[in-house]
Amino acid sequence: MAQVQTVTGPIDADQLGTTLIHEHLRNRDEAVEVQWPMYAETAEEEPPHAVAPGGHYEIAVREAKAAVDLGVKTIGEPTAMFLGRDVNLMRRVSEKTGLQIVPCTGIYTYEYLPQFFLNRDADQIADLFVADIERGIQGTEIKAAFIKCAADEPGVTENIEKVHRAAARASLRTGAPIMAHSRPASNTGPRQIEIFEEEGVDLSKVQIAHTGDTDDLDYIESLLDKGVWIGLDRYGLELFLPYEKRQETTKALLERGYADRIFLSADSVATLDWFPPDVIEQLIAAGAAREWTIRLVPEKVLPELREWGMTEKQERTMMVDNPIRWLTA
Ligand SMILES: [Zn+2]
Repeated sequence: MAQVQTVTGPIDADQLGTTLIHEHLRNRDEAVEVQWPMYAETAEEEPPHAVAPGGHYEIAVREAKAAVDLGVKTIGEPTAMFLGRDVNLMRRVSEKTGLQIVPCTGIYTYEYLPQFFLNRDADQIADLFVADIERGIQGTEIKAAFIKCAADEPGVTENIEKVHRAAARASLRTGAPIMAHSRPASNTGPRQIEIFEEEGVDLSKVQIAHTGDTDDLDYIESLLDKGVWIGLDRYGLELFLPYEKRQETTKALLERGYADRIFLSADSVATLDWFPPDVIEQLIAAGAAREWTIRLVPEKVLPELREWGMTEKQERTMMVDNPIRWLTA
């Protein structure tokens, strides 16, 4: 039996169970935390930008527990560098709640790279990803199970291409799958896939995250035709695509027989320091996000799809079998 790395150690792949492939326990600016600790949010204290009462750990535990109570056994946790990855926090949450958490390596940037990475080539960056996969993350024994990279509004610039090539080379060296954050509105998917192909990555290891931010079925099928996985993974983020359109897209893809290529998730974040609290309130009031939590898929998306006619087999394929197949490809 193939194994999958979690923050509490490797498990047999068939123990993953119902899996939300893309949910975050905490996102923050890791540089601010080091440079202005008096201002930044620590894991223990009540954060100044709290989206709910309690510290980050407490909120993450509450969200993880809610997912477990809804039958979720595992999450993919794609918090990489520049999103504030903290595998010790993940491990504590997992130990407290029983939620299995699958961590990643990689770099989350839309363009910026510090000098450290500007002056190193893709192979040298890949060395770091490989170290996380083979030796452990942040001085722990916890090993990364997949590699994250991103392309967004600026497109696949020189820096972004280098990170993608580094992700590809780390995947070739270790066998680890890749999750690539994409932006359909900027047509990033085809170029991201092209880079992985140029590097010789088997596209059955590649997941194009956030493909569900569009309801353009021609665009989506053009990616699927290449053999990649797609994430319909931002339910609740109304600013990118409203919930109802996301559901219509999922149904259309199920009707066309793509259950075996799809992941459903919300890209939720238990706590996030990106905005001051008054701005968060304004964004929510303006309808940017609605019911955007780790609970949304198990509590609402799946029951609605069952009501509509999703078969048990389709649900099992998306929520149980696909995570195993992608993580052990
Ligand atoms: Zn994400």
